[in-house]
Amino acid sequence: MSKLKIAIQKSGRLSEKSLELLKECGIKLSNGDRKLKTEAKNFPIEVLFLRDDDIPQYVEQGVADIGILGENEVWEKQKDVLTVEKLGFANCKLSLAIPRDEKYTGLTYFNNKKIATSYPKILQKFFDEKNIKVEIEEIGGSVEIATGIGLADAIFDIVSTGSTLVMNGLKEAEVIFKSEAVLISNKNLNDEKQQILDKLLFRIKAVRNSAENKYILLNAPNSSIAQISAILPGMKSPTVLPLAEEGWSSIHSVVKEDQFWDIIDQLQALGAQGILVIPIEKMVL
Ligand code: ATP
Ligand code: MG
Repeated sequence: MSKLKIAIQKSGRLSEKSLELLKECGIKLSNGDRKLKTEAKNFPIEVLFLRDDDIPQYVEQGVADIGILGENEVWEKQKDVLTVEKLGFANCKLSLAIPRDEKYTGLTYFNNKKIATSYPKILQKFFDEKNIKVEIEEIGGSVEIATGIGLADAIFDIVSTGSTLVMNGLKEAEVIFKSEAVLISNKNLNDEKQQILDKLLFRIKAVRNSAENKYILLNAPNSSIAQISAILPGMKSPTVLPLAEEGWSSIHSVVKEDQFWDIIDQLQALGAQGILVIPIEKMVL
């Protein structure tokens, strides 16, 4: 039986999270640590450890069947691959930044300006579409120092907290793209490999759903069951069990983690008590 070859970043911001995702999918690697490649003991998959820049090319050529990397690299490399799933980690922005003391007047500010970046293709395409002419200076790294040393008027780079910009006397002028880690795939997987990928995707979705959702239990007076059920629809509908105490029930359901703080006041106003919120290990819809 053939194995699905997955490329992940060898060392860097994506490595740990990529390995963690495989682990949460129940995939045990033979000896996970940083060889060129390793096999899973309990799933037909082989892991290749590569530089993230090389992953799109290897996946296009079929050296790897699938890969995990930032969307920013997928867009920049412009290889013929499919993006099959967003993974929800390594979130970052690609932004234009200018010296702090400059007055920013909108995108036309960049007319005829020199912009340093490691993402020349994405940037060129962006300004072409806006019909704005810029000069792009491609550099490999440490883009944030480019204005300070007189190499460029502005930069286009990954920004997460913005503290690197501040340290280099820059300010964010414009967020151009938002990126996160994604799973990409070769376009011509054979049936066997496609089936393994589908199985993996099924597990990834279960892991991601569980991360976003919490199990919620609470006690409520029977008179509030209908209203609480409307707030907590759950996967189908909430489970309602009678309590030993007359007139009260226990309601069990699922909530989105980011909605919990918005609905807690409503639940309390409806008389809910003893509210418990519990992590979910896996969730299959
Ligand atoms: P490699 O040696 O594999 O080429 P790299 O130096 O290009 O590594 P990293 O810095 O490890 O890459 O970043 C990998 C990816 O993580 C980036 O392409 C981007 O998608 C994401 N990323 C980068 N910086 C940040 C950040 N500050 N916050 C969140 N995500 C980030
Ligand atoms: Mg890289």
